[in-house]
Amino acid sequence: MFELYQGLKAVSALALIYNKLHGARISLQIANRRINDWKWSQSIYDIFEYESMVESIDQCSREEAFACTVACESGTIDLDPKSLSAVMAISSGNSLYVADRLLLDPWKDSSPVPVERIVGNVGRPGIVMMIAPDQPRIRKLDEGTWHLINHAEFDGASDDTFQELTLHLSISDWQQAVDINSVGSRDTEICFVNGIVGLHDHGEWVADLDILGMSQREDWRLLSSVTCYCNVSSTKIISFPWSLSCIDKWEELIECPANASIIRARDNWQARLALAVLSVQLGHTTYIIPPNLCWKCCIRQHAVLPANPFQCFGEDGNTSDPNMNEEPRSEICSSDGDSSRKIQEDWQSDDMESDCEPLNKDGRDEEENDEEPLACFGHRENMSHTMAQGVSKSRLCDVYIW
Ligand SMILES: [Zn+2]
Ligand SMILES: [Zn+2]
Repeated sequence: MFELYQGLKAVSALALIYNKLHGARISLQIANRRINDWKWSQSIYDIFEYESMVESIDQCSREEAFACTVACESGTIDLDPKSLSAVMAISSGNSLYVADRLLLDPWKDSSPVPVERIVGNVGRPGIVMMIAPDQPRIRKLDEGTWHLINHAEFDGASDDTFQELTLHLSISDWQQAVDINSVGSRDTEICFVNGIVGLHDHGEWVADLDILGMSQREDWRLLSSVTCYCNVSSTKIISFPWSLSCIDKWEELIECPANASIIRARDNWQARLALAVLSVQLGHTTYIIPPNLCWKCCIRQHAVLPANPFQCFGEDGNTSDPNMNEEPRSEICSSDGDSSRKIQEDWQSDDMESDCEPLNKDGRDEEENDEEPLACFGHRENMSHTMAQGVSKSRLCDVYIW
């Protein structure tokens, strides 16, 4: 009897997943095996509760959806969902199954089946599972790019100067076969490859992004939404109360300003996603502002404005801060610095881009010394965040994505 319920649960999960993946095909071979015997369906029973025994499944994990699609595409391959946590996309036949995090604004929730089907393929036979490379590359700034960097002061106005940013998915030559004996493949080839999500600006490569990897990192926050009472479509405010520099080009993000800063890409989910991931990869503390935020109403809620914009969000002002467990302090992100002031933080420095060298500071060296907060000139392997006591209230390296 219990098995029957399990089977019904699995069928309802299958219906849920394939309702979402319009046009996906299911191999008839899958009928040769009981639905309860697959690892993806067993993974769904792991969270099985007696109270909900007769209810249908209304959500599954990305890994379960991927394991289920591999089973259905091949009819024979039985992968453990736990082995697919790094998989961002799967190509099989004319279907590309993509984690919806790659296709969503970073502030939005994943859907109950967090995978989308896109018609297309990567030009390789069999089933190709894409995982991000260990060291996503980031372009170095040329000396000539200094004139591009302005970091203008933010005045509260929205803008989107990132309309020419695009994301491209490609795969590497590297591949790793999956042990077919252990997964039961008879005639389908299956392998892992590196899937590379490339960020391009005006068609030129800027960086490779590890979008799923972002969820494993601590140094970013989604800011909760703030109700807008003014209902005015204009985003203009008389004077913006905090000092934020505008990042209007990707160069200005790599050359992080000596001030908290804001990226304005309203209504452009792709740029918001790409720049949030790039900002986190660069080691900046990143705050993702709700897409429809009204700054006026955000500010209006406070009789006394907090020192930093992120403190305006969340219930009762307790928005947690990825960096601050103690007192408010100013923080700089620097590739060198006095070791006595260093605090070692687990910033996953081994994820940092190896060819992200400190930039040529070209004519700025003279005025810089250890005491002055430097902008972050790329983050190197030994990157650590340096505390500068009482230098300034400005939180360097805080990047807001609006
Ligand atoms: Zn408002
Ligand atoms: Zn930084």
